[in-house]
Amino acid sequence: MTKFYVSTRNNNIDVSASEAVLLGLSDDGGLFVPKDINSIKIDINELIELDYKEICKIILNKFLPDFTEEQIKYSVDNAYDEKFNHKEITPLKKVGEDFFLELFHGKTLAFKDVALSILPYLMKESKENCKLNKEILILTATSGDTGKAALEGFKDVEGISIIVFYPEGGVSKIQELQMKTQEGKNTYVYAIEGNFDDAQNMVKQIFNDNDVREKLYSNNVALSSANSINIGRLIPQIVYYFSSYIKLVKEKEINLGDKINYTVPTGNFGNILAGYIAKTIGLPVNKLICAANENNVLTDFIKTGEYNIQRDFIKTISPSMDILISSNLERLIYFMSGGNSSYIKNIMEELKTNKKYKVDSSIKNQIKDLFWSDFSTEEETLSSLKNLYQKYGYIVDTHTAVAYDVYNKYKEKTKDKSKTVILSTASPFKFIESVYLAIESKKIDTDKDLIRKFSKKYNLNIPKELSNIEEKKKYHDEILSIDKVEGRIIQISEKIRG
Ligand SMILES: *Cc1c(COP(=O)(O)O)cnc(C)c1O
Repeated sequence: MTKFYVSTRNNNIDVSASEAVLLGLSDDGGLFVPKDINSIKIDINELIELDYKEICKIILNKFLPDFTEEQIKYSVDNAYDEKFNHKEITPLKKVGEDFFLELFHGKTLAFKDVALSILPYLMKESKENCKLNKEILILTATSGDTGKAALEGFKDVEGISIIVFYPEGGVSKIQELQMKTQEGKNTYVYAIEGNFDDAQNMVKQIFNDNDVREKLYSNNVALSSANSINIGRLIPQIVYYFSSYIKLVKEKEINLGDKINYTVPTGNFGNILAGYIAKTIGLPVNKLICAANENNVLTDFIKTGEYNIQRDFIKTISPSMDILISSNLERLIYFMSGGNSSYIKNIMEELKTNKKYKVDSSIKNQIKDLFWSDFSTEEETLSSLKNLYQKYGYIVDTHTAVAYDVYNKYKEKTKDKSKTVILSTASPFKFIESVYLAIESKKIDTDKDLIRKFSKKYNLNIPKELSNIEEKKKYHDEILSIDKVEGRIIQISEKIRG
């Protein structure tokens, strides 16, 4: 199999696409990236007559060279079926002069479904390609949405088990309900004492702990990841950048070749990095607008070139973006450094010891050329959500409201009139309390019947995945302290051993 991927922290560690999907993370702590991203090209002229699934097959084919066409077809056809409640998978809605790319029509109502519906298939095929006969155990840290989407994706998949860790008190009521009521004999869910960064660091540490790995191996269990550190998460997210562009051409909103902007509500930098890769391989992109909430470490970085996490972690009403350590930024800097893995290793060590690093001016300038960033305060997020509703009757979730607010700041500050797609990352039903608060300026009574009350009030259909969720059995109700996690993982590996 072609060794198509290398570690961001060591160019000498190279693996095939299948190995990268199975491993999730390189064992030197680096993330896998294509060895030569500039050799990958997509000709948008050839996509114009194609639907979502066909575009997906073309893109996957480029990034997974050791997969056969049958394997890709099988994975795509099984991932993007009636699980999505819209035939276009990721429909584009025109609201006023703006375009919202609705990425939340999958099973768990967040954009994570787009990638996590296909990742289990990619993993199964990768297992076959690598002739791996171990049980795979997926460890996932979640700020709320990845967890549920991963659980649904991997539920009852043979040969794979999944453990999800979410920050106790750090997710919305509906997100928590979705995870606690998760079915499937191979699913485990724990609230951990700490925030998302603690959860993500803990998972990364376990990945790089040889003792743990050996214990798991002796139980015939191998670890993998469903976070966007896994290339199998990232690659499927490139697709909707292309499909939304093609849609704008078809609707005669733009001409083929026109450059457009994308505004992305950003946390771990996975979604927006997929946009960067889309541009690199041939999509005509003007600016990628990185929208942050009050945890605005990325905004500062894009403006100054300094990444500094010496600041308080703030709990906001857009919890899926409450992140200070955005893992996928490492990949962007790797690309912009021209693939200089020792440079990446150094700055990542600096981040660990000094809690900050500063990139070279050439990298800083490249980033400024392509990205623009600002953040939305809690108050601004609430009022942008309300404005959109009052003006157009269109209700978005709080993360998308952050993006809408930042996009309006962009327009005002730059006067750029390029067409812009705003990525809409979750259904408003996932964040009922905050959405209600934004529109009504008062709290909704959360005691019971929350979902039905919300749907009635705004005349929105209840997504079928949420009907009855409030009555469902809670299978997962345990809070773990971080020092107990390792022991629990070993216990689970004993139970699932192949
Ligand atoms: C995960 C998530 C984000 C952030 O996406 P990243 O890829 O982590 O930058 C934004 N909005 C919602 C609703 C999410 O679930």
